[in-house]
Amino acid sequence: MKKFITIFLLSLAIFKLTSQLSFGLDKVISFEAGYAASSEQLFEMTEKLVAKYPYLLELEVLGKTKLNNPIYAVRLSYRVFDKSEFDYVEKTHLLVEAGTHGRETFNPIAVLKMIEDYVHDYYADSTLTDVDVRALLKTSVIHFIPLVNPDGFNISKFGTSSISDLELRSLFISQVEGQLYHRIKSNFNGVDLNRNYEDRYYDAVSQVWVDQWAQRNEDEALQPALSGYGGENPMSELETQIVANYIERYDFRAFLDFHSMGRVIYYRITALGTNYLSRNEQLANLVSRITDYKLRDTSVSNEGEVLVGYATSYFANRKLKPALTIETTADLTFPTLLSTYEPEYIEHKLAYVPLRVLEAVKVRGYLPYKIYISGKYYTDVSNLSYAKAIALDRKGEVFQYAGRPSLYMSQRGELQIGNLILKDAIRGASGAIYVPFKSLLSNLGYEVSFDQQTFQVLAQSQTDSYQVNLSDFEMTDKNDDTIELEVSPFIYEGRLMVTLAFAAQLLGVAENAYEFTLIGQPVFLDL
Ligand SMILES: [Zn+2]
Repeated sequence: MKKFITIFLLSLAIFKLTSQLSFGLDKVISFEAGYAASSEQLFEMTEKLVAKYPYLLELEVLGKTKLNNPIYAVRLSYRVFDKSEFDYVEKTHLLVEAGTHGRETFNPIAVLKMIEDYVHDYYADSTLTDVDVRALLKTSVIHFIPLVNPDGFNISKFGTSSISDLELRSLFISQVEGQLYHRIKSNFNGVDLNRNYEDRYYDAVSQVWVDQWAQRNEDEALQPALSGYGGENPMSELETQIVANYIERYDFRAFLDFHSMGRVIYYRITALGTNYLSRNEQLANLVSRITDYKLRDTSVSNEGEVLVGYATSYFANRKLKPALTIETTADLTFPTLLSTYEPEYIEHKLAYVPLRVLEAVKVRGYLPYKIYISGKYYTDVSNLSYAKAIALDRKGEVFQYAGRPSLYMSQRGELQIGNLILKDAIRGASGAIYVPFKSLLSNLGYEVSFDQQTFQVLAQSQTDSYQVNLSDFEMTDKNDDTIELEVSPFIYEGRLMVTLAFAAQLLGVAENAYEFTLIGQPVFLDL
């Protein structure tokens, strides 16, 4: 009887839990609501979504447009609130943006839908098949800027009456001529944001930086317009400045820019060399296989003009990382028709795109040439001449080493402490100093040995002994008492390194009674 009651109570508890869980996973984002929404309403939906999943989502308003609409980023990661500056190198960052062109109204909603799908899959693992969203989010941050151009979005959807301030409304009408406001790509100023980015790339052949923006086609619109006008100067617009600033904040491994112009993928940024192009092409092929969108092997318009000032070019020129313009929807009616929303999203598997790209860039790993600016890691490059050019441009330095970068550089040096001089000491950027265990102990007359069977380092003198277990880096003394070290020992270049505090204690000297003299090249460890 007792057993029965327990089982009954347990099943009641499970029932309660699952009913709560499915209630908790109700949808905030729907295509119908998104289709009808103004940028303000879309922002409210985003706030609601983020508030519902604080463990995984956070929202940051990056700035406000001329018409006072927020441009914001949503970050998606496991324990997203648990931030450290070392996330710059310890997490894989991917940037996804949409809504640069006002009339391409489907993508901002598609991006919010992706975010909700990822969160649901994280909790229920049922939304997306064959992708381990949970594992990906533990080691990554996906950054979404769902709506870069909210002013253009509203004007395309609701006409100029969406500009409630009458003075601003007549200003807009006077500077952006044309009746077809639903076809607007530009922002309030009549600037096409995807022609407004700085477009300055390093040409490795002639070894100079080339400013494409200055050489843009004279035939392009030369005054504010519904589309095609790049502005008075590159980066003249607040929207482009906001995105550009965000690009500098993280070491993004790839950039996906969603637009709507006929189910194609633009990837060809030839100016950056074959190495870069082949990496970009691989990702473009991957996205093409998922979505069934065709690759467009050109950066020239239908009229044959060389187009400049794209967000993707800006990102690629700055960081030499893959950047794709993904054009959704075949129907070119603008603003995008509701009937195309769900089929486009589902049939072209758009939710898989950022996840598969993230998986691919993780497999790809880091490139050998690391650029540091003021002693802090900036980004990595595959080719030395590009690395040198970017470093020079941003007043940094290039170092070559394989694998994941350290955020800061540590220094190698000689440590004098008490009567001892120890070579191969390391001082971290935080000031922490480490010394090689073996030379420290042998200098003090200990026999140091390593037992491969037990994976233990043993230091023994006639009266004393220390033991370090290398599987958990726990240190014990001769009485088998654990020695608490503020920082764990670690192995560098085959040497077991222990803290200065341990050395000082062993020598019976004050911890600050040392001298550290720099020797040789920096060490790439975050200490
Ligand atoms: Zn577009």
